[in-house]
Amino acid sequence: MLTNDQLDRWDRDNFFHPSTHLGQHARGESPSRIVTGGSGVYIEDRDGTKLLDAFAGLYCVNVGYGRSEIADAIAEQAKQLAYYHAYVGHGTEASITLAKMVLDRAPENMSKVYFGLGGSDANETNVKMVWYYNNILGRPEKKKIISRWRGYHGSGIMTGSLTGLAGFHNKFDLPRAPILHTEAPYYFRRADLDMSEADFVAHCVAELEAMIEREGADTIAAFIGEPVLGTGGLVPPPAGYWQAIQRVLKKHDILLIVDEVVTAFGRLGAMFGSDKHGLEADIITIAKGLTSAYAPLSGSIFSKRMWEVLERGTDENGPIGHGWTYSAHPIGTAAGVANLKLIDSLGLVENAGKTGAYFNAAMADALSGHAHVGDVRGEGMMCAVEFVKDKASRAFFETSDKVGPKLATALLGQGVIARAMPQGDIIGFAPPLCLTEAEADIVVDGFKAAVGEVFG
Ligand code: PMP
Repeated sequence: MLTNDQLDRWDRDNFFHPSTHLGQHARGESPSRIVTGGSGVYIEDRDGTKLLDAFAGLYCVNVGYGRSEIADAIAEQAKQLAYYHAYVGHGTEASITLAKMVLDRAPENMSKVYFGLGGSDANETNVKMVWYYNNILGRPEKKKIISRWRGYHGSGIMTGSLTGLAGFHNKFDLPRAPILHTEAPYYFRRADLDMSEADFVAHCVAELEAMIEREGADTIAAFIGEPVLGTGGLVPPPAGYWQAIQRVLKKHDILLIVDEVVTAFGRLGAMFGSDKHGLEADIITIAKGLTSAYAPLSGSIFSKRMWEVLERGTDENGPIGHGWTYSAHPIGTAAGVANLKLIDSLGLVENAGKTGAYFNAAMADALSGHAHVGDVRGEGMMCAVEFVKDKASRAFFETSDKVGPKLATALLGQGVIARAMPQGDIIGFAPPLCLTEAEADIVVDGFKAAVGEVFG
């Protein structure tokens, strides 16, 4: 077995970590953690430290750690058939079963699911299919995609462009055409507009309409959004937002891509956020909760109206020119089948609604009175606490104050993992959907102590 010193050196000498300060890590100036195990809502590291993971990895380990039902399904699939491709009509029992299970749970108007590996490649698939769709319909100019500032849709070239966060664009020459960004439905951040919430929704809609007018509706193919903003700050939309946005999209024949990478399969206390928020998607992106991250797998679910055009396209042009070697990987789809069965048998969608409401209420109770807490918000098993320098004027801290990272570090000292979100002093919580009320109390008590430590 490798010693801790060896692992530490090999890590810093060889491993390019995602979303990491590369120089600090390579020089050994920033903390690292070697994770060795997990059970329920806890992970354990090599030093024997046990931490309550209140962000479920990257809001993906929805059933919790250490579920032998999924591990066994993966092992059985690997022994029987570790791999075969899905090109030219090939399938496995796992991939065919999972496609049916996804469609059985998806909103009524959905028709087929394409399987990829992660959320980024799924959104890449979506953009290609939107372009293909408009080419088959004979409108080659209708190609631009509207996203929102603070939306998160991946970190590839196209999907990093869809993402509306500066940290994912800077020095990467992103965003690239033909991606446009419009106002995020983030009322709390826009105190500068001095509007009621209803007026703010009207403002978001007016911004969108002005963009469509400026660019020309015949150049805009699709709009992409998460039902509840995730990485951009965990922000539920203001009342009426999605209804009003969808009216505009329908009027201009603009497709709607609902990115449910975080929200699908229960996180909001409903199987899909689309159903809960009244979203009529043309495409739904799924990933994380599809396998609870026991194996990499994503999906793009296409509506009947899109599917008909895609079918027509291949009748006219031959097989669809799109696919990954690992599309519908048997091990991923076997994990997905076992995971969705577990979500049902454990009642995790209901628990996310019920315990999520308890968790959000307890967090608000504990923290909303604090002088530097500007907002406590959430939905289902998602909760965010946003910090301000001054509550009355809603003045925000400087990035250099590092309030978010300091809070996350103090919380780690309490044995709880949460995430300092990338833009703003926002601490995000998105625990496994199996969280109990007692575990929610541990998170809230730990965070209250951490806030006390940072602000004195
Ligand atoms: N869409 C959303 C809404 C996400 O939150 C994420 C990842 N956090 C992605 C897409 C990208 O998924 P991946 O990291 O698996 O590529």
